[in-house]
Amino acid sequence: MLTPRFRSDQATDSVSEPHVRVTTAFNKMLSIPGATVASVEFTPEGVVVGLRRRKGRPRCPCGWKGSGAYDSSVRRWRHLDLGSSKLLLQAPIRRLHCRRCDRVRTETVRWAWPRARHSRDFEDVVGWLAQRTDKTTITRLLRTSWETVAGIVERVVAEQVDTRRLSGLLRIGVDEVSYRKGHRYLTVVADHDQAGRVVWAAEGKNAATLEAFYDQLGETGCADLQAVSMDLGAAFKKATDTKAPQARQCVDPFHLVALANEAINKARRWAWNLQRDKARQAAALAGPKRRGRPPAESPAPPRDHARWVKHSRWALLKDPDALLPSQLDVLHELRRSGSALYRCWQLKEGLRDLYRLPDPSDAAAHLDWWLAWACRSRIPSFVTLSKTVRDNRDRILAAIELGLSNSKLEGLNSKIRLINHRGYGHHSATALIAMIYLCCGGLTIRLPTER
Ligand SMILES: [Zn+2]
Repeated sequence: MLTPRFRSDQATDSVSEPHVRVTTAFNKMLSIPGATVASVEFTPEGVVVGLRRRKGRPRCPCGWKGSGAYDSSVRRWRHLDLGSSKLLLQAPIRRLHCRRCDRVRTETVRWAWPRARHSRDFEDVVGWLAQRTDKTTITRLLRTSWETVAGIVERVVAEQVDTRRLSGLLRIGVDEVSYRKGHRYLTVVADHDQAGRVVWAAEGKNAATLEAFYDQLGETGCADLQAVSMDLGAAFKKATDTKAPQARQCVDPFHLVALANEAINKARRWAWNLQRDKARQAAALAGPKRRGRPPAESPAPPRDHARWVKHSRWALLKDPDALLPSQLDVLHELRRSGSALYRCWQLKEGLRDLYRLPDPSDAAAHLDWWLAWACRSRIPSFVTLSKTVRDNRDRILAAIELGLSNSKLEGLNSKIRLINHRGYGHHSATALIAMIYLCCGGLTIRLPTER
């Protein structure tokens, strides 16, 4: 098949001319830094734009300028599409023997990152989109594979992440994030003083994982830490006790409220069993004992009891301000019938009130009042919760005292779950960590049209 081919000719370089040279037009359209358009070729893969480099010595990615080339080859980089055609930049690229790196390396070009097969503009568009939208949208819009997007995200993050993000940390939050079924976890560290932006993430969730972060921070960095907020587990506490013993440890409200919600779910099962036992006893008292199998309906609780236990879930768990009228009805019904579940709800809201006190200095008194109430509530799951809360009393109060009670980490956790949900979570931990830095690391990706 014959493909039209345009070569630069000797015509004058002026846009006012009725027939502008095709290379001049592409040169003005693309304005590739450090190169001019020498040829334009229409091929089945797309429009191939041949670039002519400005004269100069080859430069190593480390910054060192070589005196001569070791060898040379031709490379193509995918650039932003030209209408419905793909656009490929093509240029000779040299290798040089870098004295600083002490090995042969490929020179850098101004329009692409080292080792990239896409132009910077293309990669920036991928990064910008990945911060905002799901995987399928990007791969379809840019006609590229998911592996390519993942590779680009990793490179964009490596190039643009703030290398000084670990210096000067004062108040940090640590959290674990599950990223795949089968209990795969990441440990994520965020800076409370930088709007909760992620400064570090790694695979794993035990004490050793966090210790690796503290080691990277160094002794002085660890000594500068004033506060570390975390969950109620033992792992992060242990690592912080050993590596940054002077830092005040705080419990994130998010985790405490999550525990209270868990206690409610346990209490619902407990209440349902209680009702069933009551019904069994009533049935046993009411009728004479029959031989053989008992009728199927006799051990089950009365229908309405089973229903309210089942239907109470969201009424009990949701924020009271966000309740639907039907859920409010369930709550009123529970209160009228003197149900233990209504007391569970009161206990949970009582614990949440800790973070809604008009005067935070009342927190200690409020928490002690709550502890006394919960431990004699005779609801097993709340008695257990009260023990956990008592063990962590100081760490819970420290979060309020230090103003870490409106933890940004709660938002972080749901943000990471959203990243997972948008389809970025089912690949390697490395790919997800790059996505977390991209979306939660405070990175500003500028579109080529905004530069
Ligand atoms: Zn070098």
